[in-house]
Amino acid sequence: MVDKALRAASAQQEDVVREVFRAAGLMWQCARHRCRFDNPMSAQLCVRCGRQRDGRRVDDVLPASADPEDFEALREALIEYFENSGKQAPDAVTFHLNFENEWTSYATTLQYGARQEAHSFDAEVAMALDDLGPAEEPGEELRVTLPR
Ligand SMILES: [Zn+2]
Repeated sequence: MVDKALRAASAQQEDVVREVFRAAGLMWQCARHRCRFDNPMSAQLCVRCGRQRDGRRVDDVLPASADPEDFEALREALIEYFENSGKQAPDAVTFHLNFENEWTSYATTLQYGARQEAHSFDAEVAMALDDLGPAEEPGEELRVTLPR
């Protein structure tokens, strides 16, 4: 519906239509000054620049159930993984839950700026994930940023 309305709007109308959709909570505008991209509500990070809604660089998302020390151990395992694999380290790795509320090492999302890539990790990362324990609630999020 959002796309349809924007296509139907003339150039002058478009700004108004965008304002209305933002106000109605149908899209959100990236707060990064140089970006200002209007994103669909389903996008967690800006589709154009990869930043968060408030314009800040992507940062850690620590699930309530996780111990901060285990979280740091997971970050170390990821750093080591990318050093050893020769694959370019992403800005951040997002993990997803299976139906038992356990974090899985497969079908993770690597964030390279605005570009996303699915990736499956090896046993070392899977072990570090196991140490984190299951999530308490479905829908918890886990995102680990990596140093550049
Ligand atoms: Zn942006």
